[in-house]
Amino acid sequence: MQTAQFNGVFVCTSPLASRLRLEIIEPVTEAPEHFDVLIVGAGISGIGCAYYLGKHHPQRSYAILEARERIGGTWDLFRYPGIRSDSDLHTFGFEFKPWRSEFAIADGAEILDYIQEAARENAIDARIRTGHRVTAASWDGEAARWTVTVERVHDGELTQLTCGWLFTGTGYYHYDHGHTPEFPGLAEFQGRLVHPQQWPQDLDYAGKRVVVIGSGATAVTLIPAMAERTSHITMLQRSPSYVVSLPQRDALANLANRLLGAERGYALTRRKNIALQTGFYRFCRRFPKLARRLIRHLTARQLPAGYPVDEHFRPRYDPWDQRLCVVPNGDLFRAIRQGRAEIVTDTIATFTASGIRLTSGRELEADIVITATGLRLLPLGGIALSVDGGPVELPSTLAYKGMMLSGVPNFAFLVGYTNASWTLKVGLVCEHFMRLLSHMDEAGYDTVTPTPDPHALRTTAPLLDFSAGYVLRAVAEFPRQGAGAPWRVAMDPNVDRAVLREGPVEDPALRFTRSSHRQQQPVTAPPTDPVGQTVNGSRFDPAEAAA
Ligand SMILES: Cc1cc2nc3c(=O)[nH]c(=O)nc-3n(C[C@H](O)[C@H](O)[C@H](O)COP(=O)(O)OP(=O)(O)OC[C@H]3O[C@@H](n4cnc5c(N)ncnc54)[C@H](O)[C@@H]3O)c2cc1C
Repeated sequence: MQTAQFNGVFVCTSPLASRLRLEIIEPVTEAPEHFDVLIVGAGISGIGCAYYLGKHHPQRSYAILEARERIGGTWDLFRYPGIRSDSDLHTFGFEFKPWRSEFAIADGAEILDYIQEAARENAIDARIRTGHRVTAASWDGEAARWTVTVERVHDGELTQLTCGWLFTGTGYYHYDHGHTPEFPGLAEFQGRLVHPQQWPQDLDYAGKRVVVIGSGATAVTLIPAMAERTSHITMLQRSPSYVVSLPQRDALANLANRLLGAERGYALTRRKNIALQTGFYRFCRRFPKLARRLIRHLTARQLPAGYPVDEHFRPRYDPWDQRLCVVPNGDLFRAIRQGRAEIVTDTIATFTASGIRLTSGRELEADIVITATGLRLLPLGGIALSVDGGPVELPSTLAYKGMMLSGVPNFAFLVGYTNASWTLKVGLVCEHFMRLLSHMDEAGYDTVTPTPDPHALRTTAPLLDFSAGYVLRAVAEFPRQGAGAPWRVAMDPNVDRAVLREGPVEDPALRFTRSSHRQQQPVTAPPTDPVGQTVNGSRFDPAEAAA
């Protein structure tokens, strides 16, 4: 039997024990390893946070804990044919690292290389502990630190670490498997059933009849990528999505890179694309009917004459009620035009031995069925948080500036944009986090807790304001947002820039304190905001700043 000793507990880690058993047998002998900051997740968010820490607070110790054996998160996990971004990499890339490829919409392997390179170039990789899953974190207000429970994935052994701050860049979905609805008759099916989240690398689909169930980003990626080799491929959707074609190469970006160099060319293209993304989003939300007509017109232009555009490409919802699907160079439409792929809009009556019978009575023969039916959302990587002995019920918390949680001290999280590139939020949130640390250093605080007044709690809304099925299935497990600043989550990089990058750190909604073990130490400076903006106790108005 293996044993290990933690804060006042004796831990039994026998391989025979299915779960950990704890017995309190003697006082603390050895303190757990301590870090100023622990980052959870080595995807694009966690690595981004590590970069900003190294740049702004090089004296602070940190480690990244990553459950998987490899870094890259989403871009390492998903391996299905054609896997690519649907954002341009000039906005999906880090602000500090130019995207140099000629392809603005890039495949998964290129994005993974880019993330790995960022970790290598900034000496972040040496600080990453792969195969370490964080299962719980408990805050002790007296000591002003988190105790973080970490499971070593390969043998299940538990260890504990402590930290002053916890930052989660854990993405937003379960990594073990995706969502597969319960289909009637599935047990009858004699062919192969595959979910894109666990793509079998040996899957041979050459010359096979394939049905892809779904209408989202994954389905529209798979169809043209697989159509090259299948004998027939069908996208079976219950209802249509908006599908918009974008050029895979951005001629202006490539020209700017040549003329201005990689750094300046990237910065310019990034600005252009942020303006285009936010401009198009605002146009769609403000003029939904016009946006519907415009998207329909662009879609119909790329389909053969007489194609039933409305049957297969006219959603029931307005643009951006759900994320739009992007197809590079119209590849999906080309596959349809060339007769290599078909879209069927119908519902499944039952699986049969040889395929799927639809409600209309039509049979789709299939050797392989791919369930591109979505993700299972998971808040904060499934970490059980507690504060001073009380469990944190996430749905009872409010997101503060979209990056901290009410009542949870020294905790920050990263959930990117759903209506623009996720990564645009990485720099903004991390910069604000860095300024918060500087402010606390200067003022001699070691704890900050977002604390809403009762008014803020009166009207709350789901954190993810999106009507997609995968969001609706799980959004109740997530924290919520309030009706006004700073409790409302801005889904707009321009508003966030004004609040997170340019706005003050001090805020009446933040309670700064010094734990009892630091009470003896003098406060080194009065509480001032590092960017020099006076707050005077009045609430900063992001709308005003953004204007
Ligand atoms: C197929 C696909 C395509 C996408 N394309 C785009 C796109 O084009 N544009 C866009 O803006 N967004 C896109 N997204 C959303 C995408 O997930 C984000 O853009 C981004 O990659 C998320 O990065 P992240 O680092 O926050 O999270 P992730 O990439 O999900 O990484 C999170 C990491 O945290 C680790 N982790 C989680 N929980 C724990 C734990 N408890 N302990 C330790 N480690 C943990 C995971 O193992 C993982 O490595 C896409 C998503 C998918 C699934």
